[in-house]
Amino acid sequence: MEIKPIKKVLIANRGEIAVRIIRSCREMGIHTVAVFSDADRTAMHVRYAGEAFHIGPSPSNESYLKMEKILEVAKQCGADAIHPGYGFLSENAEFSRRCQEEGIIFIGPSPEAILGMGDKITARRTMIKAGVPVVPGTSEAVSSEEEALETIRQIGLPVMIKASAGGGGKGMRLVKEESKILSSLRGARSEAKTAFGNDAVYIEKYIDSPHHIEFQILADRLGNTVHLFERECSVQRRHQKVVEETPSPIMNPEVRARMGADAVAAAKAANYEGAGTIEFIMDDNLNYYFLEMNTRLQVEHPITERVVGVDLVREQIRIAEGNPLPFTQDDLHQNGHAIECRVYAEDTDNNFMPNPGTITHITEPLGFGVRCDGYVYEGYTIPIYYDPMISKLIVWGKTREEAIERMRRSLYEYKISGVKTSIKFLERIMEAPAFRKGGYNTHFIEDNIKFLMAEPECAFECEDLALIAAYVEYTTSLREIEQTMSPVSSHAGKEWKDYGRRIATRRI
Ligand code: ADP
Ligand code: ADP
Ligand code: MG
Repeated sequence: MEIKPIKKVLIANRGEIAVRIIRSCREMGIHTVAVFSDADRTAMHVRYAGEAFHIGPSPSNESYLKMEKILEVAKQCGADAIHPGYGFLSENAEFSRRCQEEGIIFIGPSPEAILGMGDKITARRTMIKAGVPVVPGTSEAVSSEEEALETIRQIGLPVMIKASAGGGGKGMRLVKEESKILSSLRGARSEAKTAFGNDAVYIEKYIDSPHHIEFQILADRLGNTVHLFERECSVQRRHQKVVEETPSPIMNPEVRARMGADAVAAAKAANYEGAGTIEFIMDDNLNYYFLEMNTRLQVEHPITERVVGVDLVREQIRIAEGNPLPFTQDDLHQNGHAIECRVYAEDTDNNFMPNPGTITHITEPLGFGVRCDGYVYEGYTIPIYYDPMISKLIVWGKTREEAIERMRRSLYEYKISGVKTSIKFLERIMEAPAFRKGGYNTHFIEDNIKFLMAEPECAFECEDLALIAAYVEYTTSLREIEQTMSPVSSHAGKEWKDYGRRIATRRI
């Protein structure tokens, strides 16, 4: 197998994921090219990349989704590869194919693998053939309303009506009552048509007390496939992940081994290459079923990176170059516990409405075991055109308890002014007894909404007054020292030495 080193990568994305990809490229000595829309002229990924090219107006269908424009820029600047990030063109088989045709490496799977897994009905059939358990349901698209009624009678309520092309929680309806079947079917269809241009839907049994557990996989071109263990993503709002953690608090070694083997079998059945995720739904008795495969880097990938010790973007690039995986399954282990919180610019008190605007102040958390994947800065205006996610806060701890306490501390440290954020809501999740106990399911937010909407406990807040008082005294004393310092010091240019000593003698 020929290995073709990648020298320059165009990142066909924006926001935190574009910045995150550039970081790995820079460490690997790979040149980076950003593309940007009108709204993103001042964005962080544009500043941070080696080169940046304007590709069109703010709406994503006129910029970040413009395949031909992006390919033209790639050729013009001599990029030998394109990384699509997540969202936008990442799961677009046509884009993967067009890259191939233009002789540009698509850092992701083949068009066939994307097509096979992007359509959920086809994916279900592939999994059944591979012997991977799927949620009981239909393996064809629903052809008529009568057929849907008949199928649902056979499966039994409750059911999920799901768009075959679905993603991001769209085109999905939970149906609990007979009288709601037809309206839900029509709702799912029209939402799918608008969002994906395809109204094919299928029906799945609704799994009671569902836990969303997914497995990260990596596959090289030589046929080696490994999994990097699970992620627990059951803290969800409207079928969208809010907090993720690994290992899953409900997992045991026996089920983990079985699910891992099934995830690898699933990836092999899809002829998969690169980084991907097999999503499963699991009930309280740890029975699990294949849900879907995401043929791209996942938003929550950093918790796996932290616990397994693998930079997934680096591995994606190495695989795309044609390298074999540098490890076998036996080399991979879970070390400690990691949690990710998705921080959004949203008004949690007002039905989680997006709240884009200008960041007037930001202090990001730091310290041992903390990673903050963001892209905003002071004075930056979050555009209205894209996802309102501000950042992902990831912490690591030796144990789950330590990770939760570290997340609480980090969220406390995280200060953002100018836009409303979900930080307080996330702090409350860390304080919620049902979360701390583990074993929660996807109804966690709904079931605990009263608790979660209350103000975070004042354990840390009480320190605030003392801190403010200390700060005021500190700045006042600084000013006094400045006024009394002689302009010509005995060690000119080394005033900072004096400064430190004089402040140190005035205890604050
Ligand atoms: P994750 O599974 O990592 O949580 P999501 O499923 O929430 O990721 O999707 C990540 C991003 O990709 C989101 O911004 C979402 O809106 C977008 N996305 C997911 N699926 C599609 C799709 N089929 N078409 C367009 N965008 C999508
Ligand atoms: P998407 O492509 O939008 O991510 P998924 O099929 O991955 O759609 O489902 C998203 C979420 O919806 C899951 O994480 C889970 O919470 C819920 N869900 C989906 N299917 C079922 C099911 N059959 N039973 C229970 N919950 C489900
Ligand atoms: Mg999903």
